[in-house]
Amino acid sequence: MLKIRIEKTTRPKDLPKADDPLKFGTIFTDHMFLMNYEEGEGWHDPRIVPYQPICLEPSAMVFHYGQEMFEGLKAYKAVDGRTLLFRPNKNIERANRSNKRLCIPEIPEEVFLEALKTLVKIDEQWIPEKEGTSLYIRPFVIATDPFLGVRPANSYLFIIILSPVGAYYPEGLNPVKIWVEDEYVRAVKGGIGEAKTGGNYVASLKSQVKAHDEGYSQVLWLDGVHRKYIEEVGAMNIFFKIDGTILTPELNGSILPGVTRASVIELCKEWGLPVKESRISIDEIYEAHKNGTLEEVFGTGTAAVISPVGQLRWEDHIMKVQDGGIGQLSQKLYDTLTGIQLGKIEDKHNWTVEV
Ligand SMILES: *Cc1c(COP(=O)(O)O)cnc(C)c1O
Repeated sequence: MLKIRIEKTTRPKDLPKADDPLKFGTIFTDHMFLMNYEEGEGWHDPRIVPYQPICLEPSAMVFHYGQEMFEGLKAYKAVDGRTLLFRPNKNIERANRSNKRLCIPEIPEEVFLEALKTLVKIDEQWIPEKEGTSLYIRPFVIATDPFLGVRPANSYLFIIILSPVGAYYPEGLNPVKIWVEDEYVRAVKGGIGEAKTGGNYVASLKSQVKAHDEGYSQVLWLDGVHRKYIEEVGAMNIFFKIDGTILTPELNGSILPGVTRASVIELCKEWGLPVKESRISIDEIYEAHKNGTLEEVFGTGTAAVISPVGQLRWEDHIMKVQDGGIGQLSQKLYDTLTGIQLGKIEDKHNWTVEV
């Protein structure tokens, strides 16, 4: 296996103060991981160096045609002092599925995992310890050829940076208000909706701005063909509990296959709840709301883990869920997942990986 070269900083930064709210994605640790790819040579020169700006040609392909992939996962300080990653192999597998779709060369899985562990270990003292906090890990690949033609690049840079993040909801789980978007779309089948890549996010900004202006924190996307079937939320997958059944949109080619989504499905099945991955129309949700069977709605994703939805707005209809409060299942899923991540609950599934 490729050996990671390590160059430690001689000027460590001040760690954030214990009471710093750690606004998401604003502070970065002392080190970062880099690895280059060149056609003919493959991935080479894996190294950990002091966190610093990178130098690219203005003609670097990523700036023009967006050939890039990213991932997002977290490291946690467990209650017994261990440092834990949550299902990192799922992120690594998904990264390589995204890479394939985006014509980026795949990254050897063992090098990827070793890079995550080594980097997190080196900056371990940056993992915050207050309830709900963690160290967010952002691996990404960019195309670096200085070339304005359209084709897959011949050279790439794989980078991992780390950022201590505060509790997503400083006052505990907090229901969000969601805008069901029926004008713009995020992705269509055959496009890049299944890949974790910047292009999907730039496609979503216009609608997100509109939703924010209307007082809604996130957008729920409908399918790009009929504007009828539910896809997912900004950076979360979505679940509904209707009359005791747990429903989530099936992975249809335009939805991001979330690691949290997969974990929630497994837990619900273990708890004996009926789980259905299927095509769900917004009319069905509206009907369930009208007849009183829409019991819970929640989003799932690494950042917030579980995000209860207190209100959905679709066209002129405002659907309140759980009277704007937190459902029992949402709370139980949140407590269980964060309990496993922090080593408070026995990890029967072997989901955590010690650094
Ligand atoms: C990352 C992401 C998710 C959530 O995936 P997790 O692996 O659970 O963090 C959902 N939707 C989109 C569009 C995403 O980018």
